[in-house]
Amino acid sequence: MRQHKFGKAEVPAIGQGTWNMERDGRAEALGAIRRGIDLGMTHIDTAEMYGSGRVEELLGEAIAGRRDRVFLVSKVLPGNASRKGTIAACERSLKRLRTDRLDCYLLHWPGSHPLADTIAAFEQLKAEGKILAWGVSNFDSGELDAALRIAGRGRIACNQVLYHLGERSIEHAVLPWCEREGVAVVAYSPYGSGNFPAAGSAGGKTLACIAAAHKATARQVALAFLARKPSLLAIPKASAMAHVEENAGADKAALTEADIAAIDAAFPRGGRRPLPMI
Ligand code: NAP
Repeated sequence: MRQHKFGKAEVPAIGQGTWNMERDGRAEALGAIRRGIDLGMTHIDTAEMYGSGRVEELLGEAIAGRRDRVFLVSKVLPGNASRKGTIAACERSLKRLRTDRLDCYLLHWPGSHPLADTIAAFEQLKAEGKILAWGVSNFDSGELDAALRIAGRGRIACNQVLYHLGERSIEHAVLPWCEREGVAVVAYSPYGSGNFPAAGSAGGKTLACIAAAHKATARQVALAFLARKPSLLAIPKASAMAHVEENAGADKAALTEADIAAIDAAFPRGGRRPLPMI
């Protein structure tokens, strides 16, 4: 699996999301996460919000005995992100995940607690070894400016944002900002959270044509596009074993400039607008 830079770490370009996994069959979800790890998708994303902690517990079980192979990311809810609240939320997450550290800890989206307090808590957690890095999620360029003013250069490991073929607005300002500052951009909901282009649509046909040339699938082409630069990573969520295996194979679709231009034309990025989130 191709590795992309994530703060000071190197992380597989395609990882695994876990939102809503508590709704899936437990054995199926556990099997999917473990299979994904074995196939190299060791970047795993979760959050205290998911299933109100139940997904972190499930993940704790899935990675028991394999913790050292995983790049584990979780998120604090904005409502908990005060100086003290962030520390307490992280400690609860560590317990549910049955680990002594997170590889990266994110603020889930901008909230009303002063960002300086959240960042101070992140730095304290880092000094204590409870997190190895920290980042943000759903931050538009103005919010990134504010975080950078508080934290200084080289502290923000990533910005996790909505990015899929039908929603490319990060390409206007957020992606260039992050590339300039060396902040990894993690594409969430890379399949549109269940809204992937239909095979018979114009865009679906473009993907199928590129996929055929690479002996890949349309979804693998989509993931390869979303993680086409060293600054980009993607975290599809899959509880079905066949889905995990397909996602892990996205690496084999090495897109050409012409492929990228064709995808660009089929899925236009549209005009500049405020950063969307789901
Ligand atoms: P997604 O990854 O775009 O789509 C997930 C859906 O696609 C599931 O229904 C899954 O089915 C299906 N799927 C996955 N691989 C497939 C394949 N190869 N073929 C066919 N279907 C496939 O949606 P998401 O869960 O919204 O986003 C991914 C992750 O990003 C989340 O799980 C979460 O970790 C993160 N996220 C973060 C934020 C944030 O605010 N920071 C917001 C949203 C999401 P099965 O599960 O049945 O396999």
